[in-house]
Amino acid sequence: MKQSPQDKNLERMLRSGRLVAGGFLGTDSRSLDEIIAEDAAVLHRLGYSVSDVAARMQDLRDLARPALGTWIQADEELEVKSEDYKGIIVCPWPHEGRYEKRITTAQRLDTGQSISWSDLNIHLIRDHGFFEGRGAFFRIEPEELIKVIFKG
Ligand SMILES: [Zn+2]
Repeated sequence: MKQSPQDKNLERMLRSGRLVAGGFLGTDSRSLDEIIAEDAAVLHRLGYSVSDVAARMQDLRDLARPALGTWIQADEELEVKSEDYKGIIVCPWPHEGRYEKRITTAQRLDTGQSISWSDLNIHLIRDHGFFEGRGAFFRIEPEELIKVIFKG
């Protein structure tokens, strides 16, 4: 599929370090459309939608937020914490989207696996189906995320 000039600008922005150090695409050589399509295929194979995943990430973040950086139990096998960092980060897509720098971490007590995400990750997944490129600091592997945040 041929990219529109607008898509090209977006992809250039995502590759640059202008909004976040290292950019949103990391070392990934795939196009933005390919990254989004391949992650969508992984979710589909595992039986989840982007809205299922984003809603669970949001719920865990909302649960953890009042505890101000201390671990709290989300269910028997899962604990979460949420930490605030000063500042705002903007969504690189062309719309008004400003997110606080907050990192939520979920850790499974049964497997020890953990995964972290920012408020921006929740938005990028929910509204753009975008888990970031491989090698990006906040790249989230959909399969690992699902293993951690949903009961196995
Ligand atoms: Zn956005």
